[in-house]
Amino acid sequence: MESGRKSANVILLEAFNIPSGIAVDTHAKRISNRLGISNSSDPEKIEQDLIEIVPQKYIKDINHLFIWHGRNCCTARNPKCSTCPIFNFCKNHE
Ligand code: SF4
Repeated sequence: MESGRKSANVILLEAFNIPSGIAVDTHAKRISNRLGISNSSDPEKIEQDLIEIVPQKYIKDINHLFIWHGRNCCTARNPKCSTCPIFNFCKNHE
């Protein structure tokens, strides 16, 4: 996702409560790759892969979930796989 598109998605969601897409930031990218939801490094392709499987009603919450999980569990270095609540769904755990 180019940064303009990502920003527009964030503004529409946070300011107007209109989910228009998924802002693929570093957390969304890393976790989507690790879970095996998307093999791409291209944020726009990752967004499409996510939209295919995330029900519409959860789109507005998915960014917060990625940020929360990425900061607290699935960190860039030394992810806490042994205590991860979605370990069983992950294709690339440690
Ligand atoms: S099992 Fe590990 S790599 Fe997979 S989502 Fe959880 S913390 Fe991330």
